[in-house]
Amino acid sequence: MLTIASKAKRFNCITVKWSLDVQQLADKRAVLIIIDGMADRPLIDHDYKTPLEFANTPNMDRLAKGGLVGQLDPISPGIRAGSDVANLALLGYDPAKYYTGRGALEALGAGMELRPGDVAFRCNFATVDDDFRVEDRRAGRIRKGASKLAKVVDAIKIDGVPGIKTIFKATVDHRAVLVLRGEKLSRMISDTDPKEEGAKIAISRGLDGSEEAKRTSAAVNEFVKRSHEALREHPLNQERANKGEKAANIVLTRGAGTIPNLPSFKSMFDLRGCCISGTPMVQGIAMAAGMEVVDVKGATGGIKTDYEAKAKAVIEGSKDKNFVLVHVKAPDIAGHDGDFKGKVRTLEEADGLVGHIIDEVDIGLNYVALTADHATPVGYGAHTGDPVPIIIGGPDVPASRVLKLSEASAARGNLGRIRGLDLMPIITDLVGRSRLYGS
Ligand code: ZN
Ligand code: ZN
Repeated sequence: MLTIASKAKRFNCITVKWSLDVQQLADKRAVLIIIDGMADRPLIDHDYKTPLEFANTPNMDRLAKGGLVGQLDPISPGIRAGSDVANLALLGYDPAKYYTGRGALEALGAGMELRPGDVAFRCNFATVDDDFRVEDRRAGRIRKGASKLAKVVDAIKIDGVPGIKTIFKATVDHRAVLVLRGEKLSRMISDTDPKEEGAKIAISRGLDGSEEAKRTSAAVNEFVKRSHEALREHPLNQERANKGEKAANIVLTRGAGTIPNLPSFKSMFDLRGCCISGTPMVQGIAMAAGMEVVDVKGATGGIKTDYEAKAKAVIEGSKDKNFVLVHVKAPDIAGHDGDFKGKVRTLEEADGLVGHIIDEVDIGLNYVALTADHATPVGYGAHTGDPVPIIIGGPDVPASRVLKLSEASAARGNLGRIRGLDLMPIITDLVGRSRLYGS
């Protein structure tokens, strides 16, 4: 049997920060790092390399070398997963059973109160022309002043559909959340965001023929119209126009959702979990699962985030929790933007965070898993159904001896190919907390 010291050595861990007392041996911890949109496809212009192959990622590589490496299908092979269903699956919640729309997860993560019967939406500040044609779905990725704009949108009253209150809050960059509160609402309605530039905004419609869906879609259509009236003359948009920036002159809605009913993470896996993420949707899932959501100053959920603060939060969080979820958003943004260099850079920055974590978490005793919620190839600008790499490092796992983590080396790894829903049972088993099936 390997000694703890030699196990640590296998991962090149020099520092062992925690004392090796009996309690600690009994209570192994796991850290799950989710790098949003990490996986990619080889690009002709870049020597048939993916951004991950191109990036200098010594820490991910050393985690891979000493650990299990394989491929993971977030949902199942070829399914293009949204981040919401993929993150649910990675945390062990079958989306087919538990998914009730993204808007509700965003609302929870944004710290908004959500009641049974409310319908919540993911929103974007966007730019439209006088014909309601979308010029920019993200209003030039507006960063400053969105909360000022949100104030006037929050004050909107819907007159055409009685008995519905609107609550609106800006979250990260151009993103925001809308909650509709009132009698007889339904999440079974379509989006007003056409999801492509150059197209006219879409008219929301009921999807199941119910009166509730009809009423809710009418309310949403009025809300979007009123948001344009409230925003187009806003002084901040005049300022933006003077600077040659895109006006944030409308709010578009998508992902109608109601509060999810998740069994607690503790009851599912006997793990005390906490979540470190700047992304409201991920925070929302963690909250719905009863995990502690650590407020990390500087974790923005955007392209620039404070990785050092995040690493410190992981170390802190793992002192009284035995499961820490760390989510990194930036590579997905670079993937959507088709920005190869940006994706390489954000992967390298994420690698620095991985380095901090594996140095501090004492991988001779505890487990660190790293994967993505889906691929966001830069050549495609959207999520694809490709498998993503998965690494699980820690004691008692066979070393893959993979030298460089990549999509291709993951396919040749020693873990094989698993689904998102398989991950938590594997982690739970490794940390010694899974229940015996049968007798
Ligand atoms: Zn994602
Ligand atoms: Zn994405």
